[in-house]
Amino acid sequence: MRGVKGSSQTCSVATCERRIRRNGLCEMHDSRLKRTGTTDDPPKKTLADRFWAKVDRRSPGECWPWTAAVNAYGYGVMRPEGRRTGPTVKAHRVSLMLTGVDIEGMVIRHSCDNPPCVNPAHLSVGTKADNSADMVSRDRHARGSRSGTSKLTDAKIIEIRQRAAGGELHRVLAEDYGVSRSTITQIVNSKTWRHLTGIAP
Ligand SMILES: [Zn+2]
Ligand SMILES: [Zn+2]
Repeated sequence: MRGVKGSSQTCSVATCERRIRRNGLCEMHDSRLKRTGTTDDPPKKTLADRFWAKVDRRSPGECWPWTAAVNAYGYGVMRPEGRRTGPTVKAHRVSLMLTGVDIEGMVIRHSCDNPPCVNPAHLSVGTKADNSADMVSRDRHARGSRSGTSKLTDAKIIEIRQRAAGGELHRVLAEDYGVSRSTITQIVNSKTWRHLTGIAP
């Protein structure tokens, strides 16, 4: 009957554009009023509220596992803004941040080696330089006996020796194969890759 006029009337809450359903209110505000006694927005949850709701807080010395989403490495992740999409941050970073630690630009380590753990007592901050120093020493360790020549295949070694025998400069070969000049010299003099000595390309 009054279809056009009725559908143009909006909820009596000033900021609400929804159509009136009953009592001068939209569906949402009407049901909120019944539930909470007010049409006011519920107080916004703080980051700390949302964070700690997802933590299995145990005794101080134990690991406190994150109970929500984890990334491919097992680290807890969350969206600090509380949105459903968008970038995530690691939960253990949020944990330290909430304890008042300045984590900006810092890397965070777990003393417990347990990726989902967010117990601040198990977390410490280091600089990116600390971390890459760690990585360099790990890498050096991992490559061990290959001593910088891991880019080179047997076929390349044979090629290098052939080219050197043909009179090409070690400096040029070093550049071509992305290794140091001393590496080339060692290869050519059979100080390294001895097992390939005398094999024709
Ligand atoms: Zn409304
Ligand atoms: Zn832990």
